[in-house]
Amino acid sequence: MRASDNAARYATIHKDPASFAVPPNLADYAGVRAAFNWESARAGLSGLPQGRGLNIAYEAVDRHAYGPRADRVALRWIGKTGERRDYSYRELVLATNRLANALQSTGVKSGDNVFVLLGRVPELYVAILGALKMKCVVTPLFSAFGPEPIATRMEIGDARVLVTTETLYRRKLEALRGSLPKLHCVILVDADQDGEGTRSWRKLMQAASDAFEMPPTDPQETALLHFTSGTTGRPKGVVHVHEAVVTHYVTGLYALDLHDDDRFWCTADPGWVTGTSYGVIAPLTHGVTNIVVEAEFDAPTWYGVLAQERVTVWYTAPTAIRMMMKLGADALKDYDLSALRFAASVGEPLNAEAVVWGAEAFGLPFHDNWWQTETGGIMIANFASMDIKPGSMGRPLPGIEAGIVRRKADGGVETVNTDQEGELALKSGWPSMMRGYLHEEARYRKCFAGEWYLTGDLARCDDDGYFWFVGRADDVIKSSGHLIGPFEVESALMEHPAVAEVAVIGKPDPIAGEIVKAFVALKLGFPADEAMRKELLGHARKRLGAAVAPKEIELRANLPKTRSGKIMRRLLKARELGLPEGDLSTLESDER
Ligand code: ATP
Ligand code: MG
Repeated sequence: MRASDNAARYATIHKDPASFAVPPNLADYAGVRAAFNWESARAGLSGLPQGRGLNIAYEAVDRHAYGPRADRVALRWIGKTGERRDYSYRELVLATNRLANALQSTGVKSGDNVFVLLGRVPELYVAILGALKMKCVVTPLFSAFGPEPIATRMEIGDARVLVTTETLYRRKLEALRGSLPKLHCVILVDADQDGEGTRSWRKLMQAASDAFEMPPTDPQETALLHFTSGTTGRPKGVVHVHEAVVTHYVTGLYALDLHDDDRFWCTADPGWVTGTSYGVIAPLTHGVTNIVVEAEFDAPTWYGVLAQERVTVWYTAPTAIRMMMKLGADALKDYDLSALRFAASVGEPLNAEAVVWGAEAFGLPFHDNWWQTETGGIMIANFASMDIKPGSMGRPLPGIEAGIVRRKADGGVETVNTDQEGELALKSGWPSMMRGYLHEEARYRKCFAGEWYLTGDLARCDDDGYFWFVGRADDVIKSSGHLIGPFEVESALMEHPAVAEVAVIGKPDPIAGEIVKAFVALKLGFPADEAMRKELLGHARKRLGAAVAPKEIELRANLPKTRSGKIMRRLLKARELGLPEGDLSTLESDER
């Protein structure tokens, strides 16, 4: 059984290229790729006036604020209780100018690190963009992180400024402030007055001018420090530069199919790289309306937003899609989703089943795409104009060379043939490639072999150039001489109507080396009993064959996941083996 067997089980979803007459048109995939180069791709952006460089915030905000888009809604914020706040591009310029001036008034300098610890409130977006204008290095963190993960990241990142709320500060940081001697300024967005060691956002903003001239910005200057999800181990601090905005712009065009009049919604929190690259930067570089939803997932809220805001392009993640599948397509029937024309997913492998379910429930399939914190932007995607092979990640973006490689004994790598498994690798050289892991030079160097950047993911590439995810290199299971990718086993179990989510691990076994063990959470209404366990074992065996099917299945209420919604297989495995649980700073759900 191979991942690309999915192609036989799930029919390719054909697209009519003629219906994508409006550029970007990747119907001529090979032609667009051949003609593409990053230098000319930059022409879609403005650059700072008078050739003073390239700044993310300028491309996202200022360049739209003096032309025909000035009064268009740049950011529509929908609060937890349903209230809305709109910022036009012009208003966003003024607010971010004020913030840049306010930061300067506190003594903050270009190059200083600004951490933002906020829920998805408007100030989060103003803080990120305003700090970028001042050429500060920005790190948004999940507001749900506990005190330790926050303090550790701030220490690693040499935080000079923290923007947060009164409550978050008192609960999570005040006690640890002594351990952060470099922290010079804490700005509280909801405080009316300055306090002991804290400044009031409102007062600072009131006192600040709304005119700001951005300093010249070298495209190679550091702009963002983003921590990885911590799925496979201790999170890494990934450094990105201003030039990354070229990738954000290009991928917004090709992978998300953004057009001038779109209303775009990315469900990710900026505490995760997706929420910054695509929840803030990419849509704004295209001058579209970016919808920001404060609430976490719940079906009525989300479906309500899609319908009421007439969202046209939607970018979400497999965990959310699986939660929607758990509730069933019926929950959607009262919502008018006729405006939605494109939906994409990222973060974890998207099971073929979920792609097809999207087509049934929403009338359009989910387009899977692949990237990671290190790559800064989407690298491989199922494009709007391209046939979808359900279960595949799609094909490389223009400007991206991807390959499947194997490590050789001499430390180098060689590419493998079509349909063979190996490590997914990319040829370095796109603008949003990481410039380093902060303070971890050796870990960074280990990611490269010759001209290749090694992603740590295993995949295979088929005859048509579609890439199929196999598993993380760390998660691959070796059983009786077979190499088993968790994704295939998980996808097969996902096809069973009772299964809501599943994770498989390799469990040491004296005879087989490892056996496959699956952890399964069931959909509502299905009994978690012995008969169900047996049925699932039988289903998997029939579907995958005895060599690959799980030997053990454990039923659970849900699976341990990171804040960015990724299943933490390593934690399930550590527990199974009675080993230390490792870094759990990003752990979110974990009900047994
Ligand atoms: P850490 O590096 O700290 O272990 P992480 O790799 O989960 O965490 P991210 O950079 O947020 O941190 O996630 C990128 C990873 O997510 C990819 O390397 C890949 O394993 C997985 N991923 C993202 N999108 C997809 C996709 N479409 N299909 C399969 N896997 C995906
Ligand atoms: Mg990773």
